[in-house]
Amino acid sequence: MKKVVKFGGSSLASAEQFSKVKKIIDADKDRRYIIPSAPGKRNPKDTKVTDMLYACYDKAVRDEDFKKELRDIRDRFQKIIDGLNLKTDLTEEFRTIERNFNEKAGEDYAASRGEYLNGIIMADYVGASFVDSAKVIFFKENGEFDYEKTNDFLTRALTDVEKAVIPGFYGSTPDGKVKTFSRGGSDITGSIVARAVKADVYENWTDVSGVLIADPHIIDDPEVIDIITYKELRELSYMGATVLHENAIFPVRIEGIPINIRNTNAPDEKGTWIVQSTGQKSKFTITGIAGKKGFCSINIEKDKMNTEVGFGRKVLQAFEDNDISFEHMPSGIDTMTVLVHQDEFMNKEQNVVSQINRTTHPDSIDIESDLALIAVVGRSMKSSRGTAGRIFSALAHSNVNVKMIDQGSSELNIIIGVTNDDFETAIKAIYDIFVVAAL
Ligand code: ASP
Repeated sequence: MKKVVKFGGSSLASAEQFSKVKKIIDADKDRRYIIPSAPGKRNPKDTKVTDMLYACYDKAVRDEDFKKELRDIRDRFQKIIDGLNLKTDLTEEFRTIERNFNEKAGEDYAASRGEYLNGIIMADYVGASFVDSAKVIFFKENGEFDYEKTNDFLTRALTDVEKAVIPGFYGSTPDGKVKTFSRGGSDITGSIVARAVKADVYENWTDVSGVLIADPHIIDDPEVIDIITYKELRELSYMGATVLHENAIFPVRIEGIPINIRNTNAPDEKGTWIVQSTGQKSKFTITGIAGKKGFCSINIEKDKMNTEVGFGRKVLQAFEDNDISFEHMPSGIDTMTVLVHQDEFMNKEQNVVSQINRTTHPDSIDIESDLALIAVVGRSMKSSRGTAGRIFSALAHSNVNVKMIDQGSSELNIIIGVTNDDFETAIKAIYDIFVVAAL
């Protein structure tokens, strides 16, 4: 068996956390490919090393003195090295970083140094080879990730290596410059490595015991999801669930490699399995709930809309011409509603409305803002009757007015629109009826 293990920033924030990580790696000889993040927060008030690097480079770019900032970063790493009784010497590395900062090597180069240095320490600590991600992970000239070139290089670079550390978050462009993924991108690196070595599992170690059924800021101590499909997770992440970077699914999906989310601080817990497909019923009728605030609905009415060929296209054209993507589009016989992100729409509102007026001559256009969307996701909904009924009666009992309903034809999710003010109440009501009531 081959396992790829990725450790998030909070799992590597201090020497103490590093030693937990080593125990995890040593406990299973199949854990051969290790992807570290940069050191994260040691406590809620702490700063992530990645953010320290951005701030430090910001000074360098403005030709201000950044020595103190760089020294603080070095101290963070030195504390880890000393705490682990290692001999790793980063003097030369920091000299190079300082020189490259002076030469304005780029913000991405700066940010990537957190993963790079943590990788060097990790390789020393666990006795593994260090593979610099700039030499094996590639982006194209236009900035897109280069899947095939990366897969080729990585597969070759890792074939005969018994144990390797490959830092997360960055790679390089054809001109040799370092480029990073978006924030939280070490998850993507782990997934890319898992694909390249055809791993049996991609373990993603973090500081929670898996993907939670609902946001812990809204529900106290929510249940952990035992098993979830890639598709279900994609729906939940799109709607705001944040355990894993949303682009981390694609590489492992190609090979059907399962992801196991685990907790570094509670390694005996099984965590969440994210899989291609499963015959296992989820514990509850729904797999998860997620949602976002800040949407706006544009409701267009016109008598006999149903007979007017091209009406919908003309309406959507107005959004396209103003570079606004839409989220949902429920419709009735003589009405059509388009849901968009409020912040993208607000300053283009009048342009869109006047174009719709001009091209479709509707009877009315109503705009409602401050709406929230909630996705209730679950593969088991397909085969259980009455799910929608239970959702809506729970919402009615909690006095939540439902503004919009949209059920995808895959029956994997039901999307509900409510006002921003009702958002938390609605999520609580849905959680209670499907999870609390079933415990
Ligand atoms: N260190 C980077 C960040 O803070 C990447 C990561 O942790 O995945 O976003």
